[in-house]
Amino acid sequence: MKESRYNIYLLDEKEKKGLIYNSMQRSIVHIDDEVYNLMRSGRIEEISDDVTDVLKQGRALIDENQDELQILKIMFNRAKFSALSTGFTIIPTHLCNLACTYCYQGHGDVMGKTMSTETARRAVEFIKKNAVGRKSLGINFYGGEPLLFPDIPFGILEQIKQFTDENGIYLSTSFTSNGTLFTEEIVKNLKDFEHEVQITFCGSREVHDAVRVDKKGNGTYERLMDVISLFRDNDIRFHIRVDIDQENYHTISSLLEDLSQRGFGGLYIGFCPIGKDICYTEMERDSGRIDLVSLTRLFKVAHDMGFRTNPIYIQNFIEGCAAIKDAFLAIDPDGDVYKCIAAPNYKEHRFGTLDESGNLSNVNYDAFCSWTLRDPLLIEECVQCKFAPICAGGCALSAYSKHGSIMSPGCDEKDLGEIMRTYIMLKHPELFEGCSYESIVL
Ligand code: SF4
Ligand code: SF4
Repeated sequence: MKESRYNIYLLDEKEKKGLIYNSMQRSIVHIDDEVYNLMRSGRIEEISDDVTDVLKQGRALIDENQDELQILKIMFNRAKFSALSTGFTIIPTHLCNLACTYCYQGHGDVMGKTMSTETARRAVEFIKKNAVGRKSLGINFYGGEPLLFPDIPFGILEQIKQFTDENGIYLSTSFTSNGTLFTEEIVKNLKDFEHEVQITFCGSREVHDAVRVDKKGNGTYERLMDVISLFRDNDIRFHIRVDIDQENYHTISSLLEDLSQRGFGGLYIGFCPIGKDICYTEMERDSGRIDLVSLTRLFKVAHDMGFRTNPIYIQNFIEGCAAIKDAFLAIDPDGDVYKCIAAPNYKEHRFGTLDESGNLSNVNYDAFCSWTLRDPLLIEECVQCKFAPICAGGCALSAYSKHGSIMSPGCDEKDLGEIMRTYIMLKHPELFEGCSYESIVL
């Protein structure tokens, strides 16, 4: 019998309540401070038989001959190369109707292409070929602002829907949009598809209106509030992302209170650190990043105010970011194909270009192989990391930006313990009743 390498320990020293979260099994075993100390000091033979049985059930203790790294590799590869589903992110245009002060695309001026009808047709052909034989197909529209020319995404969706209906494939769609262009008509069109919309706020009204502005410099906070009311009235599924940095951190409560007062309590809200994972944060700002401890505490604040939320990373699929899955790809307005939605900024990551038959041409095999074969268990830091089953090596593009290779860890801090602690406190408040952040040690 030996200790699992994926045990994460939490102990409230005051209340003497503890637990082991096993990141590979996603299991939780309650322990007291005595068992905590025995486990942490490697004296597992001194643990009573009854408790040992419970620890074995939760896989906190495992057979001596079990190689968890090999098992994790099998789990990872099964998920990564699963043929059941496929997904595409389509960037109909790099242009945008807003002029956010921090926009890395220079408000559409840096990359200003829009997908032609011919490229959209090639994209549809490519998607159909890749979707044959799958059970489900997901299409995400991303930008620029994907609703700037709504005929492009809805034209693509109509053709794809006909194909999926004929072939018994489940189709879902999502829009990553600045939200300002949703109209009654677009909402009506959206209802023809299984959908989810993400709307982003940048903090309180004052902060949001200072940074998320239209071309004339007008703030968009009130417009977004109108749009999410339209969603609510029409049963459109949506969630809110809030970009966080040191400048807006202290204004988030004000945003949450406003949303609550407008009757949006219970809504799903995610907080994304600006500058952490690139796909959340292409919009780099000069202002400082938020530290992980402060960020994760926002999840608790939102949870306590009645919003649904979940600290990032936890409960990700074992394969991590969708860009690492074999069957997930992104298509930009030129018909160039990538793995990662943020990669069109980096031409060296382009896999190839769609030809008139909807096939990949001019293939860059270096990019194709390195992205397709990215495996956290070939990255030394990730091999040693107890969070690997819930992180899977982090953001590959971030790893590339930091280390010059996607075969390197995408994390900033190796210890995701703070996120773990928040997750447990949100999901299982009964386990640490009467405890506080400060009294729970990792
Ligand atoms: S990226 Fe960092 S946190 Fe994630 S598995 Fe690798 S070392 Fe661990
Ligand atoms: S690799 Fe990074 S930037 Fe690209 S989709 Fe994944 S998390 Fe986002």
